[in-house]
Amino acid sequence: MPSFNDKFNDNLKKYADLVIKVGLNLRAGQRLIINNASTRGVPLHTAPFVHEVARAAYEAGARFVDVIWNDEELLRLRAQLAPRDSAKEYSTWHINGLMNNVENGGAMLSIRSNDPNLFSGLDADFIGAMQQTHLEQFSPVTEAVTINKLNWLVIAASSPKWAAKLFPALSQEEAEAKLWEAIFQITRVDQPDPIAAWETHIRNLHARSKYLTGKQYKALKYTAPGTDLTVGLPDGHKWISAREMAQNGIEFTANMPTEEVFTMPHREQADGVVTAAMPLVYSGILIEDFSLTFEKGRVVKVSAKKGESTLKNMVEADEGASRLGEVALVPYSSPISQRGHLFYDPLIDENAASHLAVGRAYRTNMAGGDELTEAEFMARGGNVSINHVDFMIGSNKMDIDGVKQDGSTEPVMRQGEWAIQLNT
Ligand code: ZN
Ligand code: ZN
Repeated sequence: MPSFNDKFNDNLKKYADLVIKVGLNLRAGQRLIINNASTRGVPLHTAPFVHEVARAAYEAGARFVDVIWNDEELLRLRAQLAPRDSAKEYSTWHINGLMNNVENGGAMLSIRSNDPNLFSGLDADFIGAMQQTHLEQFSPVTEAVTINKLNWLVIAASSPKWAAKLFPALSQEEAEAKLWEAIFQITRVDQPDPIAAWETHIRNLHARSKYLTGKQYKALKYTAPGTDLTVGLPDGHKWISAREMAQNGIEFTANMPTEEVFTMPHREQADGVVTAAMPLVYSGILIEDFSLTFEKGRVVKVSAKKGESTLKNMVEADEGASRLGEVALVPYSSPISQRGHLFYDPLIDENAASHLAVGRAYRTNMAGGDELTEAEFMARGGNVSINHVDFMIGSNKMDIDGVKQDGSTEPVMRQGEWAIQLNT
């Protein structure tokens, strides 16, 4: 990390405080585990920020802050040099550590700071198998997260290679600083009182999700160039935004930034074609100009100008990976989309546009969903998969209609903006 000025250091501190106070809402006496060991790893450049997070955590009364770290470069070396039959090797102790933290009432923070080209030019089969192994092994943690067993949070931190992809004309140091500035803007760290700004933001999003939950639309109809799709919504679906309640009784915000209100689609009710509005990075590979065709909820055809085989692998990870698990609405005027560039990370890019996800649905998006068995959840329309991949479909040319229980429709979004007026 370049040594920036006082203002930068001040923002880094404010960001760390926001992560602990608003994101995780860490309680005095809780343990915190920072999981930097995802499939893509986290570059060691983010260490000064991790130190700030640990400081903020201890100041909030954390009993113990622990980090599991997998460096990007180590992953790349493995993908390049490890024996070709070793893709199923896995550090199961990571999972034991993370699950031990869940069982002991700890909180979990995941940092994303990925070089979008980390694996480019490397053995796609080996990387695909590595990714698949991770998804399978990680599933107990995924399950704990989808039912909000703990207060958890995913955030972004700048790093040179990621920043260089976004701002190729700048030096690596300038690019890294510019990406930090962007992160501070979209997470409201640069506002005079970031915590108050988040309280207002959370209140506004909550009013929309409450309104949509009350509507109980039977389906949403999407229309845009290259898109004509109807997605059914199950009975009892709940729209959620920024603030959620964990099973440990702590209210938390799972993603920063977050601009979406989202719910679960019915796993057997998507029909038509949808064209992505932005490229997607999946397991280190860029997928561009792609569309998915659905019949009775299942992807029956994929096409992409770039990365088609990766897209195919993505929807074939297991049975549920070819069905939808999330529908999310984000206005085209969102501050992230107004920046006018991709971040090459779904955590941020998904908050620039309305999106769908193939794969696992969140139990919390259905009334009483946490208590259902997997079979009951699926019978009610919830999707189950080891995967969950968001892809962006919204643009200023997209209209979305809500289909009411009687079959009539009403506008939800027009040309990418909310068509619903709320009295907040
Ligand atoms: Zn989403
Ligand atoms: Zn998602």
